[in-house]
Amino acid sequence: MFDYTPCPGLLQGRVILITGAGDGIGRACALSCAAHGASVVLVGRTLSKLETVYDQIEAAGHPQPAICPLNLETAIEKDYNDLADQLFDTFGKLDGLVHNAALLGPRTLMDSVKTDAWLQLMQVNVNAPFVLTKAMMPLLRAAEDASVVFVSSSVGRKGRAYWGPYAVSKFAIEGLMQVLADEQDGTSAIRANSINPGATRTAMRAKAYPSEAPESNPEPADIMPVFLYLLGADSKHINGQALDAQ
Ligand code: NAP
Repeated sequence: MFDYTPCPGLLQGRVILITGAGDGIGRACALSCAAHGASVVLVGRTLSKLETVYDQIEAAGHPQPAICPLNLETAIEKDYNDLADQLFDTFGKLDGLVHNAALLGPRTLMDSVKTDAWLQLMQVNVNAPFVLTKAMMPLLRAAEDASVVFVSSSVGRKGRAYWGPYAVSKFAIEGLMQVLADEQDGTSAIRANSINPGATRTAMRAKAYPSEAPESNPEPADIMPVFLYLLGADSKHINGQALDAQ
């Protein structure tokens, strides 16, 4: 596991937006960021799941979160700009942006992938992070020290047979991360990095490996050290890096 011990108030005063915050790794990230003092902006497509996370954060007495239901498959640029306006009015800045939501999509021979499924997956896994990042740049620039985190995968760093558009989409976000990081290097206080979570006990993992015993993998909460590291001030000097959670 990534070796980092966060101090309790690591993210005090920070505002952190997480996509896919209603379940799996995104949910754990929201809970963990809130527990370390951040005001979290919960973005996802299933309102009831976001509400459950919201209630858990409130019950624990952590900073009040914000709920922003958004379907990354159907959202248009205006929706992202409206979200940015809302966040400007409420917080005036954004210290962390975690691109976590993703689809697994078809895992089959490349020539068997249906074009519609390819386009749907690219919309959620690649186009949405691009438009969301673009919309959030003014808010990220308004923060003293801002961190953009792209949740990647081992198949986004080395291609693997039958992983289809999912693998290609993860290569694309690694590319988006690298270009953004290089552009901001030395010119702003924004850094961008990626995390490969490694095998983690979630619905996506169960779908990808139906015959695997879920208990053989760590829980999402177990892989949070690297997320906290990248979202806090201890990683100020880290930019353009591809990190592993495990
Ligand atoms: P998960 O349990 O399937 O959670 C994915 C989250 O993304 C869910 O909250 C889901 O919302 C949300 N989402 C999906 N489509 C969306 C859309 N169109 N609009 C808004 N939100 C949407 O997956 P996970 O395992 O936590 O994966 C999180 C990230 O880690 C992904 O980027 C994945 O590629 C990466 N990853 C995971 C593993 C692993 O072993 N788990 C390994 C490598 C990489 P709903 O709850 O409404 O469905």
